[in-house]
Amino acid sequence: MSDCIFCKIAGGEIPTDFVYRDEDVVVFRDVAPQAPTHLLVIPRCHVASSAEVKDSAVWGALMGAAVKVALSLGLEKDGYRMVINTGEGSGQTVPHLHIHLLSGRNFGWPPG
Ligand code: IMP
Repeated sequence: MSDCIFCKIAGGEIPTDFVYRDEDVVVFRDVAPQAPTHLLVIPRCHVASSAEVKDSAVWGALMGAAVKVALSLGLEKDGYRMVINTGEGSGQTVPHLHIHLLSGRNFGWPPG
């Protein structure tokens, strides 16, 4: 989508240091990190939110990449959290599906 910031990142229009890339998914650092490690895992194709996923293969690609990156960084040693905000009430601000991958501090429960 032409006016989507995450499409621009995935498509290389906005210069970004990618932590991981494959043909379906890119992973990069959140601009406003909420933990020592805060990555965003996004599909290259534009999907507005988790509620809009039509092809379940998107989930395999996203979750597979998220866990692969987490393990490659050793995040499982201290634990990590994955978050998907969906819709305004949840706190979603960027309407392109993304998994937040957070680690490096203790997380409270329930989430705020
Ligand atoms: P949401 O609130 O769940 O939609 O998460 C969107 C996230 O994208 C927020 O944590 C923002 O800090 C992050 N973000 C917004 N624009 C950029 C950017 O240009 N680069 C990296 N992260 C971004």
